[in-house]
Amino acid sequence: MQVVSTVKEVRDIVAEWRKEGKTVGFVPTMGYLHEGHGSLISKAVEQNDKAVVSIFVNPMQFGPTEDLESYPRDLEKDSKFCESLGADLIFHPEPEEMYHEGFSSFVDMTVLTEELCGLSRPVHFRGVCTVVSKLFNIVQPDRAYFGQKDAQQLAVIKHMVDDLNMNVEVIGCPIIREEDGLAKSSRNTYLSAEERKAALILSKTIFMGQKMVEEGETDAVKLVEAMKKNIETEPLAKIDYIKAVDGMTMQQVTELKSPVLVAMAVYIGKTRLIDNFVC
Ligand code: AMP
Repeated sequence: MQVVSTVKEVRDIVAEWRKEGKTVGFVPTMGYLHEGHGSLISKAVEQNDKAVVSIFVNPMQFGPTEDLESYPRDLEKDSKFCESLGADLIFHPEPEEMYHEGFSSFVDMTVLTEELCGLSRPVHFRGVCTVVSKLFNIVQPDRAYFGQKDAQQLAVIKHMVDDLNMNVEVIGCPIIREEDGLAKSSRNTYLSAEERKAALILSKTIFMGQKMVEEGETDAVKLVEAMKKNIETEPLAKIDYIKAVDGMTMQQVTELKSPVLVAMAVYIGKTRLIDNFVC
């Protein structure tokens, strides 16, 4: 496995693979990898001749008061992890390699980014769409893998690829959870022992919501209200949002007609965590 930091190196390596007729799978990440990322990498390895992982904490997708500086980083550990899963290449650029002086082109999306994380993090999806477009142009993969954990991001990327005729197949992968249910996240490392226990309220509430739907609930407003009440039983939790939205347009719905995405962002102390289910 190779680790490179320039666009040129990626292009040269991928060009060689292409000459040999190899297919390329791609997993964009911000690093500090865990088994959630691992599931995407394993799928990329399994479904393609070559697998590329990018590790880039993208400044453009963080708001001015967010955790860009403190976001956890460990390239050495990440490299070992990727290698153990059979990845062929890590692309780990510095911000200057991705955003040269005078950078002024952006990919922006309307509608799908108006609700959920797009509402709480106004610059977030512009940063995500811009960096993912750039990474797709650099790597030119056949397939790219994204987690359902970031459900709105997955919908946004699928929509962008369709809108802009990008020649890549976007593959969504299920949420990987800790044994006790908490969705795996690089940001879980911010949690103190007490907060880690409190964070379980997210997955417990997701499972509770799923059960309500299985038992016949069709009213999205009632479902969301019940989920909010459950989160409020945890003193360390503060709701950013819990919403039921159309799975394609990300616009709020009042009825649970499939496919609906039920998504939440909840602060546990200062750490903002997300979780969701689709019904
Ligand atoms: P990140 O490094 O947080 O930007 O995540 C990179 C990719 O890994 C995104 O497509 C995420 O949705 C995906 N991912 C992160 N956590 C999980 C998880 N627990 N299960 C599945 N996919 C995940």
